[in-house]
Amino acid sequence: MSGPPQQYASLVANKNRDTTAITTGRNGARSLASDISTSTTWSSSGLDETHQEAVAGRSSKLYSRYTNPTVRQFETAIAELEGAEDALAFGSGMGALASVVFALCSPGDHIVAQQQLYGGTLAFLNGPVQRMGINVTFVDATIPGAFTAAAKTPRTMLVIAETPANPSLALADLAELGAIAVPFTMVDSTFATPMSQQPLSHGVNLSLHSATKGIGGHNDALLGVVAGERDLIDAIWAYSVLHGASASPYDAHNALRGIRTLPVRHERQCATAMELATWCESSGNCTTVHYPGLASHPQHNLATRQMTSFGSVFAIEIPGGIEACRAFISALQLVRPATSLGGPETLICHPATSTHFGLDEESLSGALAGEGLMRISVGLEHVDDLRNDLAAAFAASRS
Ligand code: PLP
Repeated sequence: MSGPPQQYASLVANKNRDTTAITTGRNGARSLASDISTSTTWSSSGLDETHQEAVAGRSSKLYSRYTNPTVRQFETAIAELEGAEDALAFGSGMGALASVVFALCSPGDHIVAQQQLYGGTLAFLNGPVQRMGINVTFVDATIPGAFTAAAKTPRTMLVIAETPANPSLALADLAELGAIAVPFTMVDSTFATPMSQQPLSHGVNLSLHSATKGIGGHNDALLGVVAGERDLIDAIWAYSVLHGASASPYDAHNALRGIRTLPVRHERQCATAMELATWCESSGNCTTVHYPGLASHPQHNLATRQMTSFGSVFAIEIPGGIEACRAFISALQLVRPATSLGGPETLICHPATSTHFGLDEESLSGALAGEGLMRISVGLEHVDDLRNDLAAAFAASRS
């Protein structure tokens, strides 16, 4: 399953994603907002009709764990934005990840995964996945060819990457991933959203998002989604109805509403992130600023090749370790300490003690979530107010 999928070009042809975000995921009715389909089950005329629905699979009107009309609209929207044949939603990004891994891998199989990953993904790959007898090799995504070299065992079933990575903003090369000759490749594209990059266009099989983040965009929907070729999505669906991490129609509705403004939100958030990261770097207050849009990012050239904008998240490292981070975060007035990202409010987190807490030393250092690093998710406030808030916190962290 390598090489760019044939259907990609025709699916995205003649349509700008900004427009797709507005036109997609409609149910054909005259209402402009989505209707929330709250029923968990649908009645029928009797045994035979219920049986027909049971064999209809994803097109059934049977039971909401199998499929739900509002969730389906959300899935259609993501498929269109990703240039995919289909998409499948889940109750969270972790629900999506777990369903993909257990749908595709069996005991004795081998996964190659990036070492720079979200803490929950690392904990899942270190714990339940290996407990089920699936072997995992972690690689440094920033080393060209590292995924390809590790994906050579006869049982390598799945390659997992996350780009840009949480919280290091390290990148994985999508062209390399798309060319690897393994049954399945999957990219967690949460930090990019479908607006900044399209992994499927590089030949990657599955693009995964925590739609809880920028896609939903308002901190009011917990959702995951994976997009790819229909046969593959159908196979994951067949497992997912047993796994049960189904998406809620309320959350799908909120995310559909979020998608309407995703292009403008993301554009503004990326622009502010670029401005703040540049200012932080030139301010002399940071030992390092991590943002793929900065010329100083070690993979900036790769970023310009595979991303059209560089995302709403950047990370800073300041001298003084965890104590300086504590003082910095305490001094902020506008930026709020919280662990999510991609919403309208600018948020800051200290990954080593939150999103990546509980990992062993090796995983923590592999993820580059050191004690002096803070992750900033840029929201929609005015850039001047955010800069002033950060400037006051830098001063407090030095005193
Ligand atoms: N992937 C990335 C990159 C994330 O940052 C997160 C959560 O922070 C997840 C996956 C998991 O998503 P969720 O919290 O929706 O389960």
